[in-house]
Amino acid sequence: MSTANKAALFQKLPSINELLRRPDMQLLIERDGHSAVAESVRAVLARLRDEIAAAEKSLDVKSLDEKSLDEKSLDLALDGLFAAVDRHLRQSLRYSLIPLINATGVILHTNLGRAPLAVAALDHVRDTAGAYSNLEFDAATGERGKRDIHVDRLFKQLLAEDCAAPAQSSATSTIVVNNNAAAVLLALNSLAEGGEVIVSRGELVEIGGSFRIPDVMSKSQATLREVGTTNRTRIADYESAINERTRLLLRVHRSNFEITGFTEQPGLDELVALGRRRNLPLMEDLGSGALIDLRSVGINGEPSVLDSLRAGVDIVTYSGDKLLGGPQAGVISGRADLVARMRSNSLFRALRVDKLTYAALEATLLAYVKRDHDAVPVLRMMRLSKDEIERRAEAVVSAVESARVKSALLTLALVDGESVIGGGAAPSAVLPTRLIALTHANLGADDLNNRLRAATPPVIARVEDGRVLLDLRTVFPGQDAILATALSSLT
Ligand SMILES: *Cc1c(COP(=O)(O)O)cnc(C)c1O
Repeated sequence: MSTANKAALFQKLPSINELLRRPDMQLLIERDGHSAVAESVRAVLARLRDEIAAAEKSLDVKSLDEKSLDEKSLDLALDGLFAAVDRHLRQSLRYSLIPLINATGVILHTNLGRAPLAVAALDHVRDTAGAYSNLEFDAATGERGKRDIHVDRLFKQLLAEDCAAPAQSSATSTIVVNNNAAAVLLALNSLAEGGEVIVSRGELVEIGGSFRIPDVMSKSQATLREVGTTNRTRIADYESAINERTRLLLRVHRSNFEITGFTEQPGLDELVALGRRRNLPLMEDLGSGALIDLRSVGINGEPSVLDSLRAGVDIVTYSGDKLLGGPQAGVISGRADLVARMRSNSLFRALRVDKLTYAALEATLLAYVKRDHDAVPVLRMMRLSKDEIERRAEAVVSAVESARVKSALLTLALVDGESVIGGGAAPSAVLPTRLIALTHANLGADDLNNRLRAATPPVIARVEDGRVLLDLRTVFPGQDAILATALSSLT
């Protein structure tokens, strides 16, 4: 193609302004606004210009490659301009953060947003965040208030109940920061800056997402004093490490792993006794932080926040969006005098949470106060029985089978399996469940899995032993029909 031909092609391209004045583009502008449409027009024209330029270059080498434009195909492209702009516009204005169906059976899946919020939490967020609120205002006196009072009163109530030592529980206060990593940072900095913190080597954990206890420790300006070995630490190891620079004893919950075999770890009661004897506070990073006794849903070995406080731990840190089932947050509960030091630390101002979090957390905590545990999705999912899950799985399977009378390529079967809590809680605890197992005559399990992820909304499953496995424990009942439709289209 000669330079003259190329120039002729470029001349055929309309200008951005010409295009924007066209009546069909005006319709798009009415729908999505002038600047978004102008941006898409600019992008589509730039693509055409690149293609004309490519025609030139490839001619220098040999012949036109098929991506480059000749006059005929440019005319075709110009006819399709509206469709191209519309497509570009829709794509650029699509949400990136979208809901999906979690059929993995992992209740607290960090990559899938951890805890889904209770309906009451969403309502409360909408009501209070879509308007002005009394976030830091006392409407009764007209004076400035504190944002943490909205949830501190509920934590006091929840953490005081059935407490063996009521004197201690009434002195328990709670503050909320951005996440549990921030809670640990704030607590260590407030209680141990410039001093030493004693931790067992068996608890120097990485939780994932680069939360490593030694790193958080150094950011907090506290010095880590490691004691014991990876598998065995005794109370005497803690005791002999105490010196005049010691500020805190720290226990870290082994969230996502277990050490088994030849192991030893002092009991919480021994650490409490040591702390009291040597006048050192004891902090426990619980991570998950259940507010109810999980033994009621068949999960053992996952201490609740109340268990720790009752045992005499001075400060407990935990996440708002793990076993608590609320919004992302880091919660610090414990001795009022220690919590007061954290509240007055300037780091607290940098780590504090916004009104959306307070609203969602307050509504979630109220469900606990009312003992309405089924209102909290993660608790409801944990409490689902295998029988209930099986009934729903059977209904999904028969819906799929009646929807595709002709195709016998997809095989659905129900098999026994296990759901897990996830989110670094109770690593070895599993909940019995009933799974839908998929196989396909012409597609491998990975292909099937990819197809499910490409559905709208995406369906996230797991692949095991050449089958795709779907666990309805983590699927909301209202999504069962959507899931059945996605499965029916796997022909
Ligand atoms: C999950 C976890 C954390 C990190 O909590 P985030 O809320 O994700 O910041 C820290 N410590 C422990 C023990 C955990 O389980």
